[in-house]
Amino acid sequence: MAEQFDVLVVGGGPAGYVAAIRSAQLGMKTACVEKWINKQGDPALGGTCLNVGCIPSKALLESSQLFADANHSFEGHGIKVDGVSADIPRMIACKDDIVQNLTGGIAHLFKANGISWIQGTASLLADKQMQVEAADGSQSTVFAEHIILATGSKSIEIGAVPLFEDIVVDSSGALDWESAPEKLCVIGAGVIGLELGSVWSRLGSEVVVLEAQDAFLPMVDQQVAKASQRIFNKQGLDIRLGARVTASSISGGKVRIEYTDKNGEQTLTVDRVIVAVGRRPNIDQLTLPEAGLLIDERGLVHVNGACETNLPGVYAIGDLVRGPMLAHKGSEEGVAVAERISGAHCHVNYDAIPSVVYTHPEISWVGKTEEQLKEEGTGYRSGVFPFSASGRARAMQDTDGMVKLLADAQTDELLGMHILGPHSSELIGHGVMALEFQGTSEDIARTVFAHPTLAEAIHEAALGAHGRALHIPNKRAR
Ligand code: FAD
Ligand code: NAD
Repeated sequence: MAEQFDVLVVGGGPAGYVAAIRSAQLGMKTACVEKWINKQGDPALGGTCLNVGCIPSKALLESSQLFADANHSFEGHGIKVDGVSADIPRMIACKDDIVQNLTGGIAHLFKANGISWIQGTASLLADKQMQVEAADGSQSTVFAEHIILATGSKSIEIGAVPLFEDIVVDSSGALDWESAPEKLCVIGAGVIGLELGSVWSRLGSEVVVLEAQDAFLPMVDQQVAKASQRIFNKQGLDIRLGARVTASSISGGKVRIEYTDKNGEQTLTVDRVIVAVGRRPNIDQLTLPEAGLLIDERGLVHVNGACETNLPGVYAIGDLVRGPMLAHKGSEEGVAVAERISGAHCHVNYDAIPSVVYTHPEISWVGKTEEQLKEEGTGYRSGVFPFSASGRARAMQDTDGMVKLLADAQTDELLGMHILGPHSSELIGHGVMALEFQGTSEDIARTVFAHPTLAEAIHEAALGAHGRALHIPNKRAR
């Protein structure tokens, strides 16, 4: 007879493992099927995020930024360091230690919460039954009252530039190089392209980024996007927009890339390539035809606002479904679904999900961009405060960027916050809270911020929205 659970989660990434933990906390008998085998050859929890995504990329961004600071910024603070060099194999080993530590931590949390980790690949059958195939090929069937699908996403590959050994790689491959290529091409100026392009540029590579679209970071407020593009260009990232890659070939250890742009056909010869053109939902092997699970035209599992699929008792969350492919979005959906199964009413506020690009400076935002407000015809007021006028940013000698705040012209309710600047991934939390509490720009302007902090720039931007910023001249002082 099939083993039975109250809740069976498929996928142990940030959506799935969080759903499993919350389900177990709520007293439900919970199991999670996860197939991941890590680079050490061991089964691992944590999914893309912990193994080859958020955490390892941030570890390398952190290490490479320290190296860049030692080379370029320490001197400005009066610190002389001679003979700075990067031990890249050691950096990769540090990153691997961090990953192993954190994925081991999830296994520990599963034990502590009494969650059964079923190692293998799950496929949905009819009637809430799940077939699980273990690494040795043995098969078993598991039944659960409630099933939560959380199998995440995988990198999109393009025919013009097929992956090849460690020369043409996707984001996972680019987290394991033990030396910096002399010349690197990144295909796609999205989040991954900019983050990993920055890592290898800081470690010494000459980096060319080819982006098919004409606009740079179209999902970001364009005032902020344009300012960031200028900074990245100054840092040495050669970002070429409107560049459509048509073919590639490898010979003598070099990769020749052909692309077209507004000037016609172009070629580029590099040592290595990162293909970072987006991710697609991981539905391979997830469901057998007899299950009848509805998949939409983009390959996403179809869900309603409560993450319910077309099959009663079967939910789907995280990168597998609509919405931004972000770890914290998947985790919140995991909590909401577990609580809903236990009988509570809960929801995810999709209008207040922060996004961050972890470059230097970081780009962070929540809510609407100025372009979106114009397009939908919403009246708004805006306040912008540059970090060059922030005492703390000056002390840090890290003054690139700004805080931009958008509020409703009639009600003054905060509609969006956009921050380009040091540690903006931490600062954006202020904007998320204000949006969540339906705060106004006046609320933020009347809030006391510690001095000297980077967050004072948020306060000043809110004051600026009312023409009364204190540390820059106002266009309309009141
Ligand atoms: P995943 O993390 O992809 O987990 C899905 C799990 O399901 C995997 O472990 C997989 O092995 C398992 N699985 C798949 N199919 C089956 C099956 N049939 N049976 C059993 N198990 C199965 N997001 C952020 O918010 N911040 C960041 O800084 C960030 N950085 C990133 C950097 C990189 C390089 C990449 C690639 C992604 C990054 N992301 C980031 C995105 C983030 O990793 C994803 O949004 C997040 O991991 C999605 O979580 P998930 O649980 O839905 O899926
Ligand atoms: P993306 O969608 O952010 O960017 C892909 C870029 O590639 C786009 O700008 C697209 O126009 C371009 N592109 C597509 N096809 C192309 C082609 N043939 N030639 C040249 N350019 C092409 O995708 P990504 O950077 O691969 O990241 C995937 C997902 O992972 C994102 O949705 C993101 O949410 C998530 N992620 C998040 C973070 C973070 O939160 N900091 C970091 C990394 C990844």
